[in-house]
Amino acid sequence: MRNVSRSQRLRNLGLVPTIQRLAILEYLESTRSHPTAEQVHSEVTKEHPSISKATVYNTLEALSKAGAVLKLTVDRTAARYDADLEPHAHFYCRTCGEVLDVTVDKENWLGERLAGHRVESVRTYAYGICESCLANENEE
Ligand SMILES: [Zn+2]
Ligand SMILES: [Zn+2]
Repeated sequence: MRNVSRSQRLRNLGLVPTIQRLAILEYLESTRSHPTAEQVHSEVTKEHPSISKATVYNTLEALSKAGAVLKLTVDRTAARYDADLEPHAHFYCRTCGEVLDVTVDKENWLGERLAGHRVESVRTYAYGICESCLANENEE
């Protein structure tokens, strides 16, 4: 049933639901790790060994342009991808490179100065050292 709705969702966004697109979207929906294109490639080729890196890059580009996934620029070294379209912020750990989800107060997140404008998307990035890297630092 999930596969049917995923195909339908891609069609609604104007994308033909190819096997590659569905496989990549399914993988992104299954993870909270905000993978890079390289990581997406190494995961989806476990089940679909014929998908090339170029296809993964092109598919991620098409999915993010159509609004099926978010392309995050939180990591300056590589684009990261997120299938969670609910408004949330991201925390980037400069020690381990993990991108973590941060919940936001949807009512007060943006403040009053946006009144009168139509907000279509928001990207909020926080940078620092994550909890588990801090714990490791303290052990040393
Ligand atoms: Zn960390
Ligand atoms: Zn996220």
